[in-house]
Amino acid sequence: MAQATKAPAYAGRSYAFTPYVPAQNFIGGSFCDSVTGRFLDVENPRHGKVMGQVVLSSAADVDAAVQAAKAALPAWRATPMKERAQVMFLLKQFLERDKEELAWLLSAENGKTIAEARADIEKGVEVVELAASLPNLADGGQIDVSRGINCQVIHEPLGITGGITPFNFPIMVPLWMIPNSLTAGNAFILKPSSAVPYGAMRIAALLKEAGLPDGLLAVVNGSREVVTAIAEHAAIEALAFVGSTDVAKKLYARTAELGKRALCLGSAKNYIVVVPDADPELTATTIVASAYGCAGQRCMAATVMLAVGDVQHIIDRMVVLAKKIQLGTDMGAIITRADVKRITGFIDEAEKMGGKVLVDGRGAKVEGCPEGNWVGPTILDRLTLDIPAAREEIFGPVLSIVHTTTLDEALAVQNQSRYGNGASIFTSNGGVARYAVERLQAGMIGVNVGVPVPREPFAFGGWKDSMFGHGDITGMDGFRFFTRPRKVTTRWSIQADQTWMS
Ligand code: NAD
Repeated sequence: MAQATKAPAYAGRSYAFTPYVPAQNFIGGSFCDSVTGRFLDVENPRHGKVMGQVVLSSAADVDAAVQAAKAALPAWRATPMKERAQVMFLLKQFLERDKEELAWLLSAENGKTIAEARADIEKGVEVVELAASLPNLADGGQIDVSRGINCQVIHEPLGITGGITPFNFPIMVPLWMIPNSLTAGNAFILKPSSAVPYGAMRIAALLKEAGLPDGLLAVVNGSREVVTAIAEHAAIEALAFVGSTDVAKKLYARTAELGKRALCLGSAKNYIVVVPDADPELTATTIVASAYGCAGQRCMAATVMLAVGDVQHIIDRMVVLAKKIQLGTDMGAIITRADVKRITGFIDEAEKMGGKVLVDGRGAKVEGCPEGNWVGPTILDRLTLDIPAAREEIFGPVLSIVHTTTLDEALAVQNQSRYGNGASIFTSNGGVARYAVERLQAGMIGVNVGVPVPREPFAFGGWKDSMFGHGDITGMDGFRFFTRPRKVTTRWSIQADQTWMS
């Protein structure tokens, strides 16, 4: 029987529980099971019920993907970039065409609200647009360096590249990698989070429909065994990883040992400095939206407010706004039951250690979804830095407040963090904003912005333990990560006034 090359439509158009087909691997242009014959359950976090299965693959599946990529690469490399980019124009169209269906599927596998799921796709499309523009942006540059002598840079693809992605953005994060890698002339092998395999499955089907030749994109589902196989396969030249810091750091070290190129994005703890002259309504609404969007399962979520001086009026307003959030409608579910336990553990511990629970999301329930993985919006006040909730990544809807008397003290608290993904300052004073921007230790800084994720082509990437490797993962750095520069020096004429280059 012929293997499937299309992904079946998802029938859900509401939060009602809707099962879906098994997520298979995508190798050589068709969907297939793993050679292992094994599967894992995929749970709908809102309902706490199994909505499908995902294949659990092995190193042999990764090798099959590599062999398919090897066969496809010579023709793809010989295809002009302008033609390769046409696939991205179509991918953008198809993602927009299918946005509603994909968004409901994403919401079901991840637990996001439908608005957040749509945004997941829209943010991913931004990178597809960048990749589609590469033929206009990716000229290497050339200059006559001497009489009759020209130097030129050509950005060559690497060959077969790989990526590992987390659960929290099932479409956006794979699209941080796939479009730039493919348009640059590479093949790409993706291992998505086994908690959310459907986003990647649908990207593969859309790229096939957009005319991507078979073999250039593979999706190999599974767990650690697949990650290790991708990181260690001799034919895979580069690895992009997005996930937690412990895994990012280990993979970075391992790939460096093997002489490969790697860019590994890790965890985060994002501090938001609020000074007394901050606009109260803008500040309160923006921080609340940042802390509770995607139920706090965002590496750019506001997680600690550094309250400088008297900003009680802003905290009071945040409490009102947080209490108004309708769980299940305005805010989604937590990815697993184990994560609910982990998140509420941070709240219990903070309370025991002297923190004040201003808004308590423990034990929250949503009507019609009694088995769902829920934690409501939570605000912890008066935390000291010895309390883990003030320091460690919680990855849930918990906003901690640490008070300081001066701006410098607040900046010192932010600077001591091991992470450096995002940080923001809320103020109506330009001088204060500039002072803070110059001192906050993070790769992405906001001024009166709660989620300071740069729009493309301004790239995404953090500092410190939030990222291992050089450059950012999107923007032109993303293209550079998936290419290497070939420098060509050319002489076509012998001239009388020859120089040292002769
Ligand atoms: P995770 O690290 O558990 O998983 C990420 C990927 O690595 C998954 O595909 C998973 O299957 C695989 N993996 C997990 N444990 C592994 C191990 N021991 N060895 C090899 N592979 C392993 O992360 P997650 O829970 O899916 O996502 C949440 C984390 O990702 C948070 O820490 C969050 O801050 C981070 N994140 C960071 C960014 C960023 O841009 N810096 C973006 C999104 C998420």
